[in-house]
Amino acid sequence: MKRLFWIVLTVVLTALIYACSSVALTGRRQVLLYSNSDIMALSEESYKEFAQTAKASTNTVMTQKVRVICSKLLNAMNNYFITNELDNPMQGLNWRIDLVQSEEINAFCLPSGNIVVYEGIANFVDNDDQLAAVVGHEIAHAIANHSNERMSRATLTENLHNTIMAAAQASGKVTDSQLAVFNTALGLGGQYGVILPFSRKQELEADHIGLIMMAMAGYNVEEAPKLWVKMSQNGQEVPEFMSTHPSDVNRIKNLEKYMEEAKAYAAK
Ligand SMILES: [Zn+2]
Repeated sequence: MKRLFWIVLTVVLTALIYACSSVALTGRRQVLLYSNSDIMALSEESYKEFAQTAKASTNTVMTQKVRVICSKLLNAMNNYFITNELDNPMQGLNWRIDLVQSEEINAFCLPSGNIVVYEGIANFVDNDDQLAAVVGHEIAHAIANHSNERMSRATLTENLHNTIMAAAQASGKVTDSQLAVFNTALGLGGQYGVILPFSRKQELEADHIGLIMMAMAGYNVEEAPKLWVKMSQNGQEVPEFMSTHPSDVNRIKNLEKYMEEAKAYAAK
């Protein structure tokens, strides 16, 4: 009887932990501790800070092109959730598209839905399909709640760490230098905010969802791995979507793996 109790308790706790939420399209379970309004507020704050120094592009043709690509991706994804009567992770976000003056090869999308594309990346890509691959990846981070997940993990780690430290200090069995080593090992002391580096798993997931979004919007998904090849050959700066976690080879392999699945969405 006692054993059964523990089995049930373990199952319930495990279910609680893992059933918090699941990522749209991939179904991966994730723990989200922050409310959407918390994330929106933090994100809007980050955007305000960014907007203080960023300058909007004066290239009207390029701005229009970026807006068309982003809108196509957003509309295709939104329609998919509506048509299939699925929970829509795009609802409630304030989608906004900016092209900014900068030669930096970069782009990002805040969790609140602010998409920012730099002129540098718009000039760098070979075609609209490749730019759709970049933007699709960035939008995917937002709709998969990657920032919330990352912050939640940091909070859980911190809480766990505090509990262990309090217990260790109370027992008086751990020396100060051991505590210092423990702190470093946990990587604490870093800043928590909306723009935390994404994990390797999240980067690969953003590539996966981005690919599906490209297909839904009628873009050529075969151009996505070509873009990463071009990026790795460029080899200068490391923009968000080329962050160091997944190697280029893994990234391209991952895209190839989901190519056929993504193409099927084009017909849906
Ligand atoms: Zn990314």
